Order: sequence, then C-alpha cells, then structure tokens
Amino acid sequence: MAKAEVLCIGTELLLGDVLDTNSQYLAQQLALLGLNCFYRVTVGDNVGRILDCIVTALRRSDILITSGGLGPTADDLTTECLAQVFNAPLETDQQVLAFIESLFAARNIKMPKTNAKQALRPRGADILPNPVGTAPGMIWRLGPEELALIGIEADQSGQWPVKTILTFPGVPRELKGMWEETARGYLEKTYAGGTIWSTELKHYGIGESALAEKFAHLLDLANPSVAPYAGNWECRLRVAAKANSVVEAQALAQPVIDEIKAGSGVTCYGHDGDTLESVVGELLSAQRLTIALAESCTGGLISERLTGIPGSSRYIMLNAVTYSAEAKQKLLGVSAELLAAHGAVSPECAKAMAEGIRAVSGCDIGLSVTGIAGPDGGSEEKPVGLVYLGLSVGQKTGEPLYFARTLRLGKRLGRNEIRWRTAQEALNMVRLYLISPEHLSV
Ligand code: ATP
Repeated sequence: MAKAEVLCIGTELLLGDVLDTNSQYLAQQLALLGLNCFYRVTVGDNVGRILDCIVTALRRSDILITSGGLGPTADDLTTECLAQVFNAPLETDQQVLAFIESLFAARNIKMPKTNAKQALRPRGADILPNPVGTAPGMIWRLGPEELALIGIEADQSGQWPVKTILTFPGVPRELKGMWEETARGYLEKTYAGGTIWSTELKHYGIGESALAEKFAHLLDLANPSVAPYAGNWECRLRVAAKANSVVEAQALAQPVIDEIKAGSGVTCYGHDGDTLESVVGELLSAQRLTIALAESCTGGLISERLTGIPGSSRYIMLNAVTYSAEAKQKLLGVSAELLAAHGAVSPECAKAMAEGIRAVSGCDIGLSVTGIAGPDGGSEEKPVGLVYLGLSVGQKTGEPLYFARTLRLGKRLGRNEIRWRTAQEALNMVRLYLISPEHLSV
C-alpha cells in the first residue's frame, strides 16, 4: 500500500499561533483512500530545513503532500525549495499568470510584482488547480532523473517507484477545494489501495478506562480495529475497517458496532457528528415535547447548546438565566421562604426552579440548574463544584414527575469545566428521561 507524508510549512504553525487543521483533514482523507500516512511533519519557513524535509519524505514515502508557503512573499518558499532539490528551472505558467492578473483587474487593483511568483512552477510539474483562491499548487510526478538526484534507484527489473509531490496553499478552504476537485481523484487513480472507513461511537456516563475495560476483548482486533478516546466529559470508541470499498469496510465493522451498542446500553448516546444536544433535540422532536430551561450557574450554556441545533424552535419555548435570588423569585416563583430556609444552591431550589419554569412557559419539561461554579463563593457545607439539577415533567393526569441529580465536582476543575460538566449532565438527564423515565429513577 502506498505511503503518503504530510509536510506543513510555516513558522506560525511551529510557534503554535495557528492550529494545524490541514494535517488533520489530510490524514482523514488519506485514510479514506486507503493510503498509509506514517509521518506528518511541520517545518518553519527556513530553506535548509525545508530541503531536508522534502528529501527525507521522498526517500521514505511515495507521496509528499505539502501545505503552506505558496504565497507571494519572501517567506513563501515551497516552490523554490522543490525546484532546488531537483535542479529544475522555475518557469512562469502564462495561463496562471494571466489568471492571477485577471483577479486583480476585476478588483481594479494593479497586481503587485511579487504575485507573479505564484505563477512559477518547476519544469516537469503540472498545475494543481485552485478553484477558490489566487494561486494553484502543483502535481509533480517525479521521473527517473529526479529520483536519482535524491538517491532513489530503479528496482532489479528496472522499474522506478511512482513518487508524486502535491503542493497546496495553507488556507484550509483552498486546500480542501483543491483536494476535492483534483487531488483526491488523482491519488485514487494513481495509488488506489482500498479504503479505510471509520465511525466513532460516543459515550456519556462512563469513563474512558472503564469503557476500554468493558470492551477489552475488541481492542486487540486488527481489522476492524477498535480504539478508545477521551473527549470533553465524554468518551468515544472508534471502529475502523480497511477494505476495497466503503461498503465492504462498513460490512466488516458492523458486527463490532452492534456488539458495542448492545453492550453499552444507554451510555452510548450517538455516533460521529452527534452531540448530547443534537440527540436531545431529535428525541424532543420525535416525541413532540417542549422544554424550558432555568439556568443559574451555567449562565445559559445549556440553552446555547440546545438552540445551536437547527430546528430547535420546535421544542424550545423559553430559556431563562435566573442568576440572582430576585430573578428566581420574580420569574420562576421560587418563594422567599424557600430561599431563606435552604439557599439558592439547594435541591429544594432546583425543584422550585424546574417546576417554576415549566409553569411559566407552559412546556412539557422544565429543566433547572443551580450550583457554585467558583472559584469563590463556596463554603464547607456548600463547596465550589456543588450543583443541583432538576427535571420537572408535566403529566396529562396526576402530579408532575420530578427527577433530581446532585453533582459534587470539586473546585480543582475550574469554573468553565464545572459549567461544561453540568451542561453535559443536564442534557444527559433529559436524554435519559426521553428514552425511558426509569433510567432516571435510580
Ligand atoms: P497564501 O497565498 O494565503 O499566502 P500560503 O500557501 O502561503 O497561502 P501560508 O501563508 O503558509 O499559505 O498560510 C496562509 C494561512 O493559512 C495562514 O495564515 C494560516 O492561517 C492558514 N494555515 C496555514 N497552514 C495551515 C495549516 N496547516 N492548518 C490550518 N491553517 C493553516
């Protein structure tokens, strides 16, 4: 199977000023093509080190994909470095030059001289068109002469290895456009090696190590492979399968996916792009139920996450951030006596808030959160990280149902983590109720 290597060029990446999302994208795309990616390298804008990386990559990999350094300025070095490695003269591609000039002309700007640089390419390289930006990249399939220059030889039968360089600009949108339009098809045709299909099964309510222990017998499988990953107060199991086509790979993975789902029960809340809020949204829509939120320590975070789901207006009626005791009284009808007797951070207040917001909104479900996110404001009796959650559900006949949860998260987590964790738990409470109230009765 062909080996690809990703080389990201840019000092800003090395310094951590820009997050290297291109490597992530390219690695995922290479896997989909069934190409191995054994190395991902990042190098700064330095000629000597870029030359070194290019030669090293081409000696150990079949495909070198570069990202960045195609711009017009002096520190954009990718094209020059590639030409230098192979002693190839740089030639101006007249068509590309005319295209870049036309882009400037359309904006009524005279093209700066430096931009002509973006029309240069080493002799022998083809253009990799850029459908969304100024400058194209290149696809350069190296011939015997070039390969010999970096110490690569033909095999005993006189066959030369197929080695290709593809260059992309650093701008993610341009890189993706060029990949999708041209590069993917080229690589598929030249190096077709099957595909790797994968899916992530997302879990809440179980830790990464407990999950790994539960499915330990699957973690040694080779194809499909199963690997656990920790997330932001949730965790994932990635199932990946390699085969000649996506359909075959999916068929290989399916029995393992089924086994994980069956073994996980309600801790597995979804897969891939699913989030707790999107799953809650789907359940509310499907059951035609409405919800209202009364948030205190989360300051609207749960509301923000739920309203971020397209179509959420179908089930969200009213979200209130009732931070002060006064707001809890005025908007939610929490009584002054209750607040005086138990305080705002109490199971009693959470219950009154959930019932209050449900009554005010006329919704089926009222969800409340009250707690101490810190870092200040805690006491021995009510430490930072203590959070009460309440879920009140109206019934057609009889008393409303009420479910409560208490979190003791500790102050080491920090304010944002406490808020995030609380939001996770609150969304999961709603999810569990909607799957079956019995999941909350324990
Ligand atoms: P340009 O023609 O815009 O100068 P370029 O090929 O020279 O393109 P760079 O100058 O290296 O690309 O990067 C342009 C911008 O793209 C950077 O400022 C950065 O924001 C983004 N970028 C560069 N490399 C990456 C990367 N690996 N992942 C994500 N973003 C990146």
